[in-house]
Amino acid sequence: MADNNLSPVTVIGLGLMGQALAGAFLKAGHPTTVWNRSSQKADELVQQGAVLASSPADAVAASELVVVCVSTYDVMHDILDPLDGALSGRALVNLTSGSSEQARETAVWASERGADYLDGAIMAIPATIGGAEAILFYSGSDTAFTTYESALKVLGGRTTMVGEDPGLAVLYDVALLGVMWGTLNSFIHGAALLKSAGIEAGTFLPWATSWLDAVKFFATDYAGQIDAGDKKYPANDAKIETHFASIEHLLHESQTQGVNTELPTLVHELAKRAIAKGHAENSYAAMIELFQDPKAS
Ligand code: NAP
Repeated sequence: MADNNLSPVTVIGLGLMGQALAGAFLKAGHPTTVWNRSSQKADELVQQGAVLASSPADAVAASELVVVCVSTYDVMHDILDPLDGALSGRALVNLTSGSSEQARETAVWASERGADYLDGAIMAIPATIGGAEAILFYSGSDTAFTTYESALKVLGGRTTMVGEDPGLAVLYDVALLGVMWGTLNSFIHGAALLKSAGIEAGTFLPWATSWLDAVKFFATDYAGQIDAGDKKYPANDAKIETHFASIEHLLHESQTQGVNTELPTLVHELAKRAIAKGHAENSYAAMIELFQDPKAS
């Protein structure tokens, strides 16, 4: 049942994610208008109380808060470009995945049409939308976020505004995905090493997960060293040359155990380059200089 004290919201795009977003707004009581190219995808939402708009223009006219979640930014433009002045005075929240460059361009495009723009990145799957652990990053208009914060929080307990640069939500998203793939690849490589000696991945698992606590401890020190900006990188735990010797063991064991060596070879190469740049005595945080330099490779 819609609660007229809550902000009306329009959701454009009812794919897997858009349906979950609209469903969460409805569940929380927001008067919800929806539009999708294939209108049958609105059937279930209409049964739950959503209003199906007959055109994107009607959908945008229905609410000051307009959430878009379609497959690409080009699709979003195909839908919204023809509307011209209709976005004026609206808060446009774009949860379509794209690049930071697209987010910044779209913020300019929205501003030219008189809309406040928030770019969002969803770090959740449809089934977890609305849950306490769902992470949604937003960047762009502070006014839009502050005005609609309580409505946006309906989509996930870990809804966070990360800054006014519209590209930031995407950058947080990909940076965290990078942490995920780096960690998962290392875990799976480690599992392959132990499997070569007959040890189950499940036996390795608790050691791998508890080791992440140590990694967290190192990363905390390194974040401070990187942000200090003085390029000192004191080796409070271990020098890069000490890491390098251990990395050689990892590479050697991968070779002799018949495990794929691509990942340790990359890690070995990075540490070797850091040493060549004069960082042998520094902490692992000095690797930031390789990652900040696109020509370092
Ligand atoms: P999806 O199920 O494939 O839905 C795609 C949506 O885009 C549908 O509403 C579709 O309309 C619409 N669309 C595609 N081409 C169109 C066109 N030419 N004109 C008009 N509408 C068009 O994808 P999804 O999972 O909902 O994902 C939507 C966005 O959320 C993507 O950017 C995705 O990266 C992001 N996302 C998804 C997840 C996830 O777990 N699913 C997680 C994070 C972020 P029709 O129904 O008419 O085809």
